[in-house]
Order: sequence, then structure tokens, then C-alpha cells
Amino acid sequence: MEPNQNNWLRTNWVEKGDAQRIFVELKFTLRDCNSLPGVVGTCKETFNLYYQETDSEVGRNLRENQYVKIDTIAADESFTQGDLGERKMKLNTEVRIIGPLSRRGFYLAFQDVGACIALVSVKVYYKKCWSIIENLATFPDTVTGSEFSSLVEVQGMCVSDAEEEADNSPKMHCSAEGEWLVPIGKCICKAGFHQKGDACEPCGRGFYKSSSQDLQCSRCPVHSFNDREGSWRCDCEDGYYRALSDPPSVACTRPPSAPQNLVYNINQTTVSLEWSPPADTGGRNDVSYRVICRRCSWEPEECVPCGQNVGYSPAQSGLVDTYVSIMDLLAHANYTFEVEAVNGVSDLSRTQRLFAAVSIATGQAAPSQVSEVIKEKVQQRSIQLSWQEPQQPNGVITEYEIKYYEKDQKDKIYSTVRSKSTSATVNNLKPSTAYVFQIRAFTQAGYGTFGPRLEITTKEEATAAIVSSEQNPVIIIAVVAVAGTIILVFMVFGFIIGRRHCGYSKADQEGDEELYFQCTKTYIDPETYEDPSRAVHQFAKELDASCIKIERVIGAGEFGEVCSGRLKLPGKRDMSVAIKTLKVGYTEKQRREFLCEASIMGQFDHPNVVHLEGVVTRGKPVMIVIEYMENGSLDAFLRKHDGQFTVIQLVGMLRGIAAGMRYLADMGYVHRDLAARNVLVNSNLVCKVSDFGLSRVIDDDPEAVYTTSGGKIPVRWTAPEAIQYRKFTSASDVWSYGIVMWEVMSYGERPYWDMSNQDVIKAIEEGYRLPAPMDCPAGLHQLMLDCWQKDRAERPKFDQIVGILDKMIRNPNTLKTPVGTCTRPISPLLDQSTPDFTAFRSVGEWLEAIKMERYRDNFTAAGYSSLESVARMSIEDVMSLGITLVGHQKKIMSSIQTMRAQMLHLHGTGVQV
Ligand code: AMP
Repeated sequence: MEPNQNNWLRTNWVEKGDAQRIFVELKFTLRDCNSLPGVVGTCKETFNLYYQETDSEVGRNLRENQYVKIDTIAADESFTQGDLGERKMKLNTEVRIIGPLSRRGFYLAFQDVGACIALVSVKVYYKKCWSIIENLATFPDTVTGSEFSSLVEVQGMCVSDAEEEADNSPKMHCSAEGEWLVPIGKCICKAGFHQKGDACEPCGRGFYKSSSQDLQCSRCPVHSFNDREGSWRCDCEDGYYRALSDPPSVACTRPPSAPQNLVYNINQTTVSLEWSPPADTGGRNDVSYRVICRRCSWEPEECVPCGQNVGYSPAQSGLVDTYVSIMDLLAHANYTFEVEAVNGVSDLSRTQRLFAAVSIATGQAAPSQVSEVIKEKVQQRSIQLSWQEPQQPNGVITEYEIKYYEKDQKDKIYSTVRSKSTSATVNNLKPSTAYVFQIRAFTQAGYGTFGPRLEITTKEEATAAIVSSEQNPVIIIAVVAVAGTIILVFMVFGFIIGRRHCGYSKADQEGDEELYFQCTKTYIDPETYEDPSRAVHQFAKELDASCIKIERVIGAGEFGEVCSGRLKLPGKRDMSVAIKTLKVGYTEKQRREFLCEASIMGQFDHPNVVHLEGVVTRGKPVMIVIEYMENGSLDAFLRKHDGQFTVIQLVGMLRGIAAGMRYLADMGYVHRDLAARNVLVNSNLVCKVSDFGLSRVIDDDPEAVYTTSGGKIPVRWTAPEAIQYRKFTSASDVWSYGIVMWEVMSYGERPYWDMSNQDVIKAIEEGYRLPAPMDCPAGLHQLMLDCWQKDRAERPKFDQIVGILDKMIRNPNTLKTPVGTCTRPISPLLDQSTPDFTAFRSVGEWLEAIKMERYRDNFTAAGYSSLESVARMSIEDVMSLGITLVGHQKKIMSSIQTMRAQMLHLHGTGVQV
């Protein structure tokens, strides 16, 4: 009844433990002020709840103002006197939350400012998520976070014999309300265990589980067993095995039984064997056969292995079919052959080998080939030869027969000479004529087969002899004069190097066919020179640096800048030249490699091979001076002039490159890096092959990448055999030439577009070939495909390529392919179907069809509203739309070109670009 009541009740110190967020539940009754007479103004119907955090008990030393108020608490239900009398006292329950708590414990305090209140109970608690097993992981008791919204992330521990799934470790989240939420990841039972409820149990006897990924234990496969629990695999029964590559799930197997019904057939010194498969394959389907050959003396049981000289067809081991031929056996000899069936577990087995065997005596046989022939003396009209006795005479050789014929004679009518010794002289030959010789031996058993062909040219008789009688007498005189002079000059200056074959040849000088006298010599590898600077001076002219005027830089080479300039030699008109310089501070090795290109280039003289003017090695900088090719490299040139040439012009360029390559191939030079970027173009559109060097040229090529066969290779341009086992030949140059054809006909498109090198190798291996570029005459694409034959012997020779291209140029009708019949597919190599662009009604529809609708706004914003306007776009226009991805630019451009071609086909009118 007194005013200003202030009564406090405080709990003792409560240690908070792990809790961060505390719940306080109060139960109380409260008397209705109205039911109390005479307390108006002093009676209250609420009380206050406080707390105070401390790190330890502080006794009574807390002032009121140090408490933090939690809330003023009112009753939901109050009661009156009457209620009490009727035992209708109403109990209130209120819960308040405190947190986050940061000290070790706290006090709670209740302030009564005049209420008639009975505090019945105070419950203080916190919440936690109870330990649980979920997805075979145990999650421990976890106290909830300090905030209402916080989730506590908990890492689960796999139950015993379980392991975490790869990259998927088990986690759960404990919510503020003490509930587990969001399970992620899981544990799985280890190999040898399977899941039962929330635990992993071992597989029973006779069962196994090889991996944790498997769900269930499986029964042991056939011929295997185990007698312990928890096995990840079963052991093989005695005599049965598992190959290294066999998974635990397959049955154990054993070696096959011996092959059956072995029969043989002898033909002189060749034995053919045939057999039937073994009765028991051992339970496997990888049975193959191997043959063991032993030569036996006439005494039984004295046999020795046959050795390297015996041949097996198809092979000695790994035979899939049930036959084999064994060749090159000795005549009149005894042999035993054992044929064994083997499978994937034969090498694991320690049991005795099972095989079928036959003993055979070979018959009489003709001698083997005479292969080592030496030319002893070559004269104008006679050739003296000697040779070694064949490796297997198979008897006493009584005579040799030498067969020969003129190489260029059409019918190959041959003559023979016989000799009792291992040498012979063949007389009555024509001077300056190439002859082909072959030799065979004779014994009682007959003639052996002829040895390999040996080509020898007789010596020249007189200068006039170089001209064949079929040629025009006027030309003969001219040529004799020219040839005589050339030979004289060579002799005076001591320039005669290598072997030479002289004769007439037709060359294409910038489109006009004319006869010129050609002396092909054999290319000499500068690396064979002990002193490389001798090689340079053998093949390249030393120029005086004062004759050279450098004008500007036009490119960057591996060893220094490439410049253009002028060369003025005394008594000659000055000329434009390209000058390759060697940067200062070079090493001796770099100097040698730099000049190597000159040593190679200086050996060539052909209108379609870049010409070396000379070198400067005695001054600084060291320079290589080459004829100037105004239009630079072919790939960049074509890209710059996309679509601007006629097919005839393009074929003319290709013809030039092929003629240059024919010349190089005839010289015995393999280029290894023929690509449009390594062909230069002059102001008359004449293409010349360039970039010579040894392996270093390829090393510098930015297209070259390391392959598994070792060394760097420009994969997109290189024949498969050269990639796989570095078999570089003129036939691999032909493959590269096919790629150059494709580059030219597609105006410098990148071969195989943006496919990776690895994908290119795979695609070629699987038989894919580049499709015809747009507007490419079918005949040209066919020629490309011929160049890309897998078997290099099937590819055309450069000589034939020049012939085919010449025919096309002479009959331009063959180059007319109905437009649209060979268009570039949108998706290279795979999608061969080209949509009909003339059927689209809007730019949007077209973009959708080529899956480029994302650029719809770019086209609209730039005002390309009709397909006709789109068909006129150039690559620059496409780029100016803000399309930056090169792949998309190409896709759109390719589609525009096809559209243009289809429109032309439909309307018969071109679209001017
Ligand atoms: P290279 O080191 O031979 O690859 O030359 C580098 C660049 O210089 C080439 O890509 C050409 O653009 C340019 N170049 C090389 N030789 C000549 C030349 N004879 N005439 C004009 N440009 C050349």
C-alpha cells in the first residue's frame, strides 16, 4: 500500500557452460490491482527482468544500475480474490532469450515495483542439436549458435569401416532451434563392407566388395573363393589366375590347352602351318598363338633357336588367325615348330606349357637375293659391277645373271649378261644414259629371285650428247650452246657440286609456259659440312655491305629484324630485296643456324622458290639478302583479299607452289613445314616457297607444338606418319600441300578452325578430312583428298599435281562447280547439312538458325534489317558490330558467305561487296 516500491530478488551465479544463447522461462501468478481495495496509484501489474554477466561469482557487490534489463513482464492472465477462493489461480508462462553471452556466467534479477506477484518457477536453459548418425556419418552434440539466424556447420565423422565419398565430405548444420538442417555429402562403406542401417558390416565369407563405390557385396566370381569376412576381392582357385588388367569382378581363368590338328606344308624353304583352336580357351576370349622355331641337327634332340634370319608371316607371336608361314629357312635342314595358344594369364601360370609340335625337313631351294651390288667402274659405254654372294645360297652357285635395261625406255626391253664370278662388265651401252641393273644367282635348284634395282648413268661422251634425238634441232643448238657455257662456267669457278642430271624442262614463269634449261642437282645438307661457313660460301655469294641499302623494317625473324631495301651490284640494275639480319650479341651457334637457311636456299634456283641474292658474313650485321616479295606471306595476303580472286587465279597460285615443291622434291629436299605462312607472294601474284632450314625452322614456327614422337610439329599441316614416327618425306610434303590448297581456296582460313591439335590428330586418325571450302570446285577438293590419303604411297607426286592443275587451267570448264554444291559446313567436319538461307524471312530468324541470336540487337542497332544487307557484310562489318569472339565472327562470316552463294544461285545475280 506504500508508494515507490523497489523490491529485488536475484538468482545465484549461473555458469553458462557452452551456451551462447540462454532461454529463461518464468512461471508466475499475478493479482489484479482492481481486486485490491485502497491500492490505487501504488499497485502495479508488471515486474522487470534483468541480467548481469560476470566471469565469476561477485557476491552482493552489484549495484542496481549494473544490471541489464531484459524486459518488463506483464501477465497474460491475472486473478482476483474471488478467483483465488474458487481456486482459479491462473499461472502465466513467459520465455525470454538472452544472448550472445560472452562471459563465463551470469545472474538473473527480478524487480518488483508494487505488483502482487508469486514467482512459481524460473527455468534457465540453452538448446543443442543432439548427436545423430546421418548418411553413415556421426555428428556430435552441438550447441546452437549465438544468433537466432545462425547455423553452425558441423563436419561429420564416418562411422567405422566407412570412408568419405570423394570430394563430398559429410556436413550438417545445427539451427538456433536445435534442429539438424541441410545435410551435405556422405560416407560410404569401404571395400569389403556394406551398409546395414547406420553402420558398415563386413561382407560375409564367399562374398566380396571391390570398391567403396559398389553398394552391395557380391558372390565370388567363378573359380575364385575367400574364407574370411570383409574381403575386397576373392582369390583364384589353384591353377586359375587373374590377368593384371582383369577387374576383381571377372572369373579367374587359366591358360588355354594346346592348339589342335596342327598340319604343315613345305614349299622349298618356306613352311606353312595351320591348326585349329584349342579345345579349352581357359575361359578367356583373348587367345592368340605364338610359334617357336628350332633348327635341329640330324642327331635327334640337338635343336637351337632359329634366330633372326627366319621370317614369319603375319608374325611370330600375337597371331590371331590359326595359320602362319615361316620363310627363309635353310634348304635341306631339319626344323621343329611348336605352336602354343596363349591368353592373358599364360605368363602368370607356372604349369607346364602346352603346345602342338611338328618336325619338318625343308626341301631344296633356289638361292636368296643378290642384294649388295657395287658399281666398280662407270664409263661412257660400259659399266663394271661386283656383288656379294647371296646370304643363303642354298647350294653351290654356278652362275649369276645380270639383267639390265634403259631406264627411260618405254617397253623396258632388257638384255642379260652371265658371269661365273661375283663381278661382270656390261659393254655396248649408250653414253649419258640411265640404266637399271638387277642380278640373280643360279644353283642346281634353279634361279633365285632378282635383287633390288640399281640405277647407274653412263658417262657423258660429248656436250652434244645431252640432247635426245627427238628434240627440235633449233632448240638443240641453242641448248647445246647454253649448256656448254654453263658447264664451262661451272668448271672455271669450281662450282660443280653434287650429282647433276641435265635436260629440258617446262617451267611456268608467271603464267606463261616456256622452255628453259634446267640442271637439277641433288640437295646437300649443310649439316654434313664440318665447317659450316664453308657450306655458306659454297652455296651463297658474299656481298659487299656497301651495295646494300636498308630502307625499312618489314617483319621479325627468329634471329633479328627482316627489312626491305635495295641491292646495287656493280654493273647491274639495282633491285628490291628483303634483308634478314642477325641481331647483335649472337652466339656462334645462332650464327651458324642463321646462315644455314642461306646455305640451303642458295642451292635452289627455281621461279617458285624464293631466290637468295647473297650473304654478308664479313661485316656486321650478318645479313641474308633475298629477292623482295612485295605481298609478303600468302596466308596474310589471302586473308586481306578475302573473296577477291577468280578460281583460275587461285589455281594459278597453287600451280606455282606445286611447281616449286616439285623442284625441291626432285632435288631430294624435304621441306617439313610447308604452309601458306611459309609461302611468299610477289607483286605479280607469283607464289614462292620459302622458310628453309633444318629442324630449327620448325622449332621457330609458332604453329609447331611438341608431340609424343618427340620434336615440335605443326600438327595441322603435317601428315599422320610424320606426327607419329617422324617419317618426313616428299609424300608428307604432299599432305602439307593439300592443306595449303585448302588454305588458299578458303582465303587463309585456319585449317580445322578452332579445334585443338589433339582433336585434329584424333579426327584424322578416324578418317575425317577437311570439307571443301566454299565455292571450291569439286576437282580441287578431290585433289586435296588425294593428298590426304592415309597411305603415303597413294598420294600423288608433285609432278602429277602440277599436271592436274595445268589441265584444270587449260580447261577452265572443269573448275566451274555449280555454286552451292560444295559449301562450307557451319559446324566443321561433323555437321554436313547447310541450311537454306534463302528461306529465312528475317535477320533474327537467320541468327537463330545459326545459334547466334545473342547478336540480334547488335545487327538491329547497326541497321542491318534485311538479309540482303547482311549478305553484303564483310568481316570488318561483322567485327564493327562489337562481336569480339573470333569463333563467332567466323561462324557468322561463313554463314554470310554461304547465304551470298545461295542468293547468287537463286537469283543469278551477285551481291556486290
Ligand atoms: P621469316 O623469318 O622468314 O619467317 O620472315 C619473317 C617475315 O618477314 C615473314 O613473315 C614475311 O612477312 C617477311 N619476309 C621474309 N622474307 C621476305 C621476302 N623475301 N620478301 C618480303 N617479305 C619477307
